[in-house]
Amino acid sequence: MTDIAALLAPLVALRHDIHAHPELGFAEHRTARVIADALRAAGLEVHEGIGGTGVVGVLRHGSSSRTVGLRADMDALPIDEKTGLPYASRHEGCFHGCGHDGHVVMLLGAAQALAADPSGIDGTVHFIFQPAEEGQGGARAMIEDGLFERFPCDRVYALHNWPALPAGTIATRAGAIMGAADKFHITLRGRGGHAAVPHDTNDTLLAAASLVQQLNTIIARNAPASANAVLSVTQIHGGHAHNVIPGEAMVAGTVRTFDPAVQDRIEERMRQIIAGIEAGFEVSAELDYDRYYPATINDADAAEDALTIAATVGTARRAPEPAATSEDFSFMLQVRPGAYIWLGQGVGESPAPLHNPHYDFNDAVLETGLRLHLALARHWLAPQE
Ligand SMILES: [Zn+2]
Ligand SMILES: [Zn+2]
Repeated sequence: MTDIAALLAPLVALRHDIHAHPELGFAEHRTARVIADALRAAGLEVHEGIGGTGVVGVLRHGSSSRTVGLRADMDALPIDEKTGLPYASRHEGCFHGCGHDGHVVMLLGAAQALAADPSGIDGTVHFIFQPAEEGQGGARAMIEDGLFERFPCDRVYALHNWPALPAGTIATRAGAIMGAADKFHITLRGRGGHAAVPHDTNDTLLAAASLVQQLNTIIARNAPASANAVLSVTQIHGGHAHNVIPGEAMVAGTVRTFDPAVQDRIEERMRQIIAGIEAGFEVSAELDYDRYYPATINDADAAEDALTIAATVGTARRAPEPAATSEDFSFMLQVRPGAYIWLGQGVGESPAPLHNPHYDFNDAVLETGLRLHLALARHWLAPQE
């Protein structure tokens, strides 16, 4: 058996080192190098530069063709850290405020432990370290770079620390666990002109005002009550003088959903409403609708397995509802069955939430996360009779 306790102190030190040297999405050069070096030192086959700065460690044992992928994200956020910790960020405006430093070392620790003792493994484990989770789609970049062709995964799992859950609690659910994030940008164009001669213009501001009201009917009238969908208009721009009707106006905002059918319906209604605005106000409209992160949808079997396995290393809890925030592991789950799992790391009365300048990953949960990765791999790659 591997002495996991002996791995922990160096892993905590490495976590603090990565925390002190955070790097933004697709610029995780140092982080990727540290990871690749540690994987090589553990004796794994290492592949670098996948989807930019992505790294994959490969551990093969036994003769089975079964495979599993375990994923950690590596990037930091463009935030100034305010923790005052001795290992606080040395890079101004860059901070591990989402705990990806912790995710990296939990997965590295699992790779080290499995390399030291691969007993109970019959197949291949792919340790996937991805760049640019925070809004830039690093998972998609790795997939487009052939991730799953080069490193087949029958199943994929990812852990994310979760400050709202108590330390040691592990939660997931079948189906949607994180929301889809879409953004829309609508440009209205018409004939601008003198405010005193409106009949000679197409009033893009009046069209924008009507558009905002109509967009706000979509969730109320076209989404089922159970859908938990959100549409928010967050910008209106147009005009520059009190006596000029502008020939252009812009309306923008965001849509959050958990069900692709609801997401489709919202975009469809938006297009219909915009067509009505064009006809009703004699303007032209251009919609840029960007589904930048899909909903994170867990495979039911993979989520059930994860809950069963979680109970062997911590307190397993079925998450009652998804979170409205989004996650680009969703791209991996679109092409491979698997599950996204929350690892509780709450401490004290009100731990700092993710993306807060006072946040820090809780090192006390490192062992639970490491053991969960190990158990997931050992469960899926257990020798078959
Ligand atoms: Zn984040
Ligand atoms: Zn994160």
